[in-house]
Amino acid sequence: MFEPKYISLYRTGELGERIEKAQGLLRECNICPRRCRVNRLENKLGVCKVGKLPKVASYNPHFGEESPLVGTHGSGTIFITSCNLGCVFCQNYDISHLGKGYEVSFKRFAEMMIELQDLGCHNINFVTPTHVVPHILEALSIAIREGLSIPLVYNTGGYDLVETLQLLEGIFDIYMPDFKFFDSDVAAKWCKTGDYPHVAMKAIREMHRQVGDLVVNDRGIAERGLIVRHLVMPHGLAGTRKVMQFLAKDISSNTYVNIMDQYHPCGLAHKYAEINRRIRDKEFEEALQIAHEEGISRLAD
Ligand code: SF4
Repeated sequence: MFEPKYISLYRTGELGERIEKAQGLLRECNICPRRCRVNRLENKLGVCKVGKLPKVASYNPHFGEESPLVGTHGSGTIFITSCNLGCVFCQNYDISHLGKGYEVSFKRFAEMMIELQDLGCHNINFVTPTHVVPHILEALSIAIREGLSIPLVYNTGGYDLVETLQLLEGIFDIYMPDFKFFDSDVAAKWCKTGDYPHVAMKAIREMHRQVGDLVVNDRGIAERGLIVRHLVMPHGLAGTRKVMQFLAKDISSNTYVNIMDQYHPCGLAHKYAEINRRIRDKEFEEALQIAHEEGISRLAD
């Protein structure tokens, strides 16, 4: 019988210690590489514009995620409001940039997890969790007391600090980072983060150190491990070859990789001719070919 590791951390009291450490980070917030150093416990706001309490845009069983997360009853997705990246083309622009969502108490946050579990979801999938790591941990301890026992998914843009990820060891069983861009100038232009490639590489190494390659059960449902998403962009902007080389050589050729073809201009993308179009079939086929050539053997369907 599978039991997520966070339950044993709760029993030993380790989860309580992690919550305390994570809450401490909010005082001069350095949870993510932005290092805004604002006191979020006093509701001072940094780049992510979220203070003491979490904000949630929506939560529901989601059937559009990777098949090992979706299974038969869906992935229990909780869309967190705001983001620590600034991608001009974001597909959830209203949530990530415009702040769509509402503040919730930790108790309510925990109830959402339990409701999703009661609906039969196979996991709790936090979308854009980086800036609310302390909030998730606080609510998790309530949810465990209420019977939460399914794996947690850390579904992130990849702009995460190793020090913060270390607080999550044994708590998240599944890490699902994007690796968006390999070139610093490109990342600076489209995501407002010139150090994104460097940060994402370090973060993905740490995630893989914690959970390893993706492991699924006999029904094909993810129990533990790493899933990496890579969105193909027009004109090869995402740097697919270098991303695949990094994953195959530095992480593992058995990394479960989802190369995604759904790019379409959202948010402010219409203002920039370079990214104001969908990708062509040929661009997507080339990206898949590159992944094979670089030795990635486990691509999502
Ligand atoms: S989590 Fe938010 S406030 Fe904290 S450093 Fe990152 S962007 Fe700034």
